[in-house]
Amino acid sequence: MNAYIEEVIEKVRKKDSHEPEFIQTVEEVLRSLEPVIDKHPEYQKMSLLERMIEPERVIEFRVTWADDNGKTHVNRGYRVQFNSAIGPYKGGIRFATHVNLSVMKFLGFEQTFKNSLTSLPMGGGKGGSDFDPNGRSDGEIMRFCQAFMTELYRHIGPNTDVPAGDIGVGAREVGYMFGQYKRIRGNYENGVLTGKGRSFGGSVIRPEATGFGAVYYLNEVLKHQKDTIKGKTIVISGFGNVAWGVAQKASELGAKVVTLAGPDGYCYDPEGISTKEKHDYMVEMRISGRNRAQDYADRFPSAKFFPGKKPWEQKADIYMPCAFQNEVGMADAESIVASGAKYYIEVANMPTTNEALYYIMNKGLVVGPSKAVNAGGVAVSGLEMSQNSLRLSWSEQEVDERLLTIMVNIHKESAKAAEECGLGYNLVAGANIAGFKKVADAMIAQGLV
Ligand code: GLU
Repeated sequence: MNAYIEEVIEKVRKKDSHEPEFIQTVEEVLRSLEPVIDKHPEYQKMSLLERMIEPERVIEFRVTWADDNGKTHVNRGYRVQFNSAIGPYKGGIRFATHVNLSVMKFLGFEQTFKNSLTSLPMGGGKGGSDFDPNGRSDGEIMRFCQAFMTELYRHIGPNTDVPAGDIGVGAREVGYMFGQYKRIRGNYENGVLTGKGRSFGGSVIRPEATGFGAVYYLNEVLKHQKDTIKGKTIVISGFGNVAWGVAQKASELGAKVVTLAGPDGYCYDPEGISTKEKHDYMVEMRISGRNRAQDYADRFPSAKFFPGKKPWEQKADIYMPCAFQNEVGMADAESIVASGAKYYIEVANMPTTNEALYYIMNKGLVVGPSKAVNAGGVAVSGLEMSQNSLRLSWSEQEVDERLLTIMVNIHKESAKAAEECGLGYNLVAGANIAGFKKVADAMIAQGLV
């Protein structure tokens, strides 16, 4: 192992010992950069890795709001502005009880490399709150979003930092945040947020982009392996926006998604989540705020519900975790490997523990890493920024074609980067190396930033 990399990892472990998710991503990314760091001793001289693991700025703030009964609540808000070497900070906002500084920093760090991979000029950032939107009324959501933006507005802008959605934040929440931003600023700057409604600058395909992009990427992997998506069975987790996009595009291309999952367990549907009615129902499940996978099996008799279980115990050709970080641990990885599947395609951000990830890779499955696979979401956000700057809106065909081109390119560049470093078809290392190089070169060129 490269001594410089190990030294930096050791520093993070000591300094940020209370941030397990952040340490996890730093270890995974930095270790895979070994061939590049070996080749470029100047990076060590210029403390490049130490600079990259330090966010440019961390903002933490109080969010005070009142529920429908007039009771006051206080939540913690965050924005981590991680790296602006190649563009304004860009990344989503997550509302979930598991949000803390470690989660925000891991997501901001990953976002920096992901955004670089898209080839669009976007730096990396992430924000959110430990607010739990489940079971909250529309009025409560609006008041929370307004309170959140009342602090955040001073730190963001179309050329500074451009937030978007993530878990718990969709078009509705982005709309409320945009309304509040506009009210405070007194300017119509619609490029300040992406994932907006269509009538005020939102891009077509943005809601579908993460899931569609993931399936486009999967398709490239299959083509590379001289295989086809037609007839494949896919096990996924989650039933939110990302899972919904995956289910739609996979069915369109002839594959069958046979599961969905939530905090209460998972549903197995041998007929496939393949019809428009089923896809529409996933949207209903999400907006109901009930957060229950079981609702799907109650609605569709072809499905069976497994309470308290994870979907990885089901056999499939392809596994695609679509929910959240570390949802696949060692025991799950063992079931996945035992199933004989050849492909493990991460869609949620860092859904696999490092131990499980290395196990799956060592057993010979082709692994698609989340920062490449799910980059379609932020890529279409980048296209939304372009459209807002142009004061134009592109057609569905135009955006979809650009998304496809970007995903094909991410796969190609990652495969090439790994190949050039003598690592074979290692898409995990390839994505890290390709994403890193562009940011590293920009930081060196800009002096001591
Ligand atoms: N939250 C998404 C992600 O993890 C999208 C971010 C964006 O569109 O800015 O990449």
